[in-house]
Amino acid sequence: MSKEICKKYCPYYKPEKVDIGLCFPAKFFNGLKGDWPFPSFYEFKDSYSELRDVFCKKCEFYPDDCDFNNGSDCLPCGGYIYTQLLLERGLVDIDWIKKVSDNF
Ligand code: SF4
Repeated sequence: MSKEICKKYCPYYKPEKVDIGLCFPAKFFNGLKGDWPFPSFYEFKDSYSELRDVFCKKCEFYPDDCDFNNGSDCLPCGGYIYTQLLLERGLVDIDWIKKVSDNF
């Protein structure tokens, strides 16, 4: 699951990089079952900043190895972007994301 998300949505994805760890949202989606939609285009706007608390603060890349969180003007990872897409389209809600994330 995470490979598909990273490949499609992560601006930092490099297929040759293996064993560099997984961001928290990638772990989150790997732990879920189900058929999730993968829209082909999505322009990121920072509209669900709660995700920084829910995902980023649990992430192994936070904050030093994440340009989205270390003061740079950069995009978040693909898992974050994909989750925001699902939230904006009403396919999941933030309370559910928080509840499931608490179990990781
Ligand atoms: S945006 Fe950065 S800190 Fe937040 S989940 Fe993604 S990689 Fe981790």
